[in-house]
Amino acid sequence: MAALILFLHYAGGDRVWHSPAAYANFTIDDPWLRQPYGYVNYEELVQHARAHNFHATIAFIPWNFDRSQSSVVSLFRENPDKLSISIHGNNHVHQEFGPLASHALSEQVENMRQGLARMERFRALTHIQYDPVIIFPHSIAPEATFSELRKNQYLGAANSLNVPSDATAPEGADFALRTATLRFGDFPSLRRYSAEADIPPAQIAIDAFLGNPILFYAHESFFVSGMDAFDKTADLVNRLQPGTRWDGLGSIIRHLYLERRRSDGKYELRAFSSKLEITNDHDRDVEYVLEKDETFSHGLTALIDGRSVPFTKSGNVLQATFRIEKGATKEFSVRYADEAALASIDTAKTSFHTNAIRLLSDFRDNVVSRSLVGRKFIESYADNGRAWNLFFVSSGGLGLVLLLAWYFARRSIRISGLDSAAR
Ligand SMILES: [Zn+2]
Repeated sequence: MAALILFLHYAGGDRVWHSPAAYANFTIDDPWLRQPYGYVNYEELVQHARAHNFHATIAFIPWNFDRSQSSVVSLFRENPDKLSISIHGNNHVHQEFGPLASHALSEQVENMRQGLARMERFRALTHIQYDPVIIFPHSIAPEATFSELRKNQYLGAANSLNVPSDATAPEGADFALRTATLRFGDFPSLRRYSAEADIPPAQIAIDAFLGNPILFYAHESFFVSGMDAFDKTADLVNRLQPGTRWDGLGSIIRHLYLERRRSDGKYELRAFSSKLEITNDHDRDVEYVLEKDETFSHGLTALIDGRSVPFTKSGNVLQATFRIEKGATKEFSVRYADEAALASIDTAKTSFHTNAIRLLSDFRDNVVSRSLVGRKFIESYADNGRAWNLFFVSSGGLGLVLLLAWYFARRSIRISGLDSAAR
């Protein structure tokens, strides 16, 4: 069927659903801004991103907000088209956005609010912008968490699954074929592919054809063979869809819409986000008719460039009409009555449990992971964590590991101290 479908899409041109541009992103989970982080060499990452035309986002753990090295900060500030930051949980302790039975919603709300507060501190310290897009540590959150993220003004989420842990995927190809969904808590949720697994090129081609943003992710160990590990995937995307815009997750979510021309000359927009930047790149002024899935379970206002516009409700769809002049860009947004203000929240790192886990993770990624035996151990630990913990406790090895982590943390603080003193 591919030939026929491709022909129809081509022949339909402006009159069939299409995205404003083809978007793609590559996210690396967990690192903070130290050079190198495990196998991630930031300078080489930028060189490869330039040579192979891709963009790298760091899924940044807010707990790390105050320990960036100035040389890496400069690199991010000098290359905003190639590097960006999104949010990876708050403390990244095991499943902090996990099932509600073991992780109360109130605790999760505290974590998402402290995460944002810490990222604001990160921005003040480094002058690097970040996108309030969350990548859940370990696994995707339950549906109630999605609503809370929307209330707390997160822009969206990107994970290997886009369906909350306690929800079932809606039936039908319309859902399965899209990267993004608004079905859960009126909050944009995007799926992404592991760059560490083999992704069939046909799957990427289908996403490109449908105008879906194509998102990839990996961890520092992905680069054990060298900083060129992602190049072939970027090349494949750029070959399948020339003109792909590689961008940060925030920009991608702000362009999550499809449009098509109606016979009366107006343009229909189907929105997959509550905050959109819409550019009229046609050769005349255009009247847009926007539709967006909405549960209407809370009061809301539709806005164009911050000014309210009238909208109608039809079932679970919001419809708004507005005009954009030729060549102009306008921001469409939905503001919800239950949105929380960003309060001043304590960003301090006082939890011994969290601090120990973060320092152990640093030790894992920056010391253990750098040897073959270490990487084998990490793989084995991921599969048989319980058995290893029992072994450590019974052998007193855990104390040793903690001691090493403490030593390593002191060393890294000294190194980052030296780095900032040098500048
Ligand atoms: Zn992680």
